[in-house]
Amino acid sequence: TVARLRPFASTIFAEMTELAVRHGAVNLGQGFPDSDGPAAMLDVARAAIADGLNQYPPGRGMPVLRQAIAADRARRYGTRYDPDSQVLVTVGATEAIAAAVLGLVEPGQEVVLIEPYYDSYSAAVALAGATRRTARLVPDGDGFALDLDSLRAAITPKTRLLLLNSPHNPTGAVLSRTELQAVADLAIEHDLLVLTDEVYEHLTYDGHTHLSISTLPGMFERTVVISSAAKTFSVTGWKIGWACAPVPLLDAVLAAKQFLTFVGGGPFQPAVAYALEHELPWVAALRDTLAEKRIRLSDALREAGFEVKRSDGTYFVCADITGLAAADAHAFCRELPERLGVAAVPLSVFADHPDAWNRLIRFTFCKKEETLTEGIRRLHAHR
Ligand code: GLN
Repeated sequence: TVARLRPFASTIFAEMTELAVRHGAVNLGQGFPDSDGPAAMLDVARAAIADGLNQYPPGRGMPVLRQAIAADRARRYGTRYDPDSQVLVTVGATEAIAAAVLGLVEPGQEVVLIEPYYDSYSAAVALAGATRRTARLVPDGDGFALDLDSLRAAITPKTRLLLLNSPHNPTGAVLSRTELQAVADLAIEHDLLVLTDEVYEHLTYDGHTHLSISTLPGMFERTVVISSAAKTFSVTGWKIGWACAPVPLLDAVLAAKQFLTFVGGGPFQPAVAYALEHELPWVAALRDTLAEKRIRLSDALREAGFEVKRSDGTYFVCADITGLAAADAHAFCRELPERLGVAAVPLSVFADHPDAWNRLIRFTFCKKEETLTEGIRRLHAHR
């Protein structure tokens, strides 16, 4: 393995899912739903295969999907992307993130991540031969807030890109308008690009709503918006994601994307287009169900002795292990599948300063009723 990829030999999701399987644990570690998305959407994919949509789709994605993505952004956020030149379909948000960093950041330039950060961000920065710096979230009451001083300190003359993620994996934090405006002010002041990962855009709770930084004044022209069908429609295996950006930025993402995978997911593209047009009520129902599961899991974790953080969005909730263990979060998560029969992931692996995050572990509540109930039963059994 080349030096720049050596730190990324395995992922925490592979490690904890393997432990969960080995010990027959309920997997509340890796975030993927164990039930299907809307039935009519699945039918469209089946029909697309039956109808022979099985060859390379167009390089930017099928027009029907690009149009649905542009219409969705216009309806829900008021931002207007031209489906022919400002929307790109990718192999999941993961590819969109990697292609954006590869296409927009020169080797030696810097990318600012917000710690803790989703694991593919640091790997994408390394692939590009760029350097990462981190700002951080900090505890704020029972939730988290963006430490603006750390963001200011992370910006240098070499900074090219800020990589933002809200609703935020792994913490469940949803950045407020005030926080996003502060980020926007800094991006404008230092003439930076912003990549905003909005894959959990639909999953917000308790009156919190997702605001896209691309909608703030002066931001459209410097922002690449990334999202995905994975979380919204419970199809993490389809790997249909997208990027929306003004032409010069989108062309840069396309330049890298076309040589990573060229295209992908042919028959799933019309299905996701259908879902964006017809299944947002299904997503609203999913959100309501998740909001309730979040409370049940949080209560069970509290009763099991964890100090539980507030989850305002995503399908994750974080718990502090201080009352339960002397070990650090990663060691604790390695023991958890055997000890409690459930799996979780440590926040320390999402950070460049693991010591600041070694008391917190992340659980997902995106599981069907039986799975979650069994996970909660096991937590109670070990009180
Ligand atoms: N995004 C999901 C998570 O954070 C799963 C990602 C993965 O398995 N690579 O748990």
